[in-house]
Amino acid sequence: MSHVVYVNHPTNKAMVHDTNCGKYTYRRRDETINGYWSGTFGSLEEALNYAKGTGKKNVDTCAFCVK
Ligand SMILES: [Zn+2]
Repeated sequence: MSHVVYVNHPTNKAMVHDTNCGKYTYRRRDETINGYWSGTFGSLEEALNYAKGTGKKNVDTCAFCVK
């Protein structure tokens, strides 16, 4: 299982998703004006560390895919 982080600039958020999450599969490799997807991480912990390292105010996990 892999995790990925979506960094959203307007909301100042870094959100951790599972790579199977619909949000990721729809937006894969899509760089938007609002933010970007990180590379994938082998564990939730690594993804969370990356999310914290972005300096975004809100670090969270997706309610739909990360348990
Ligand atoms: Zn998700």
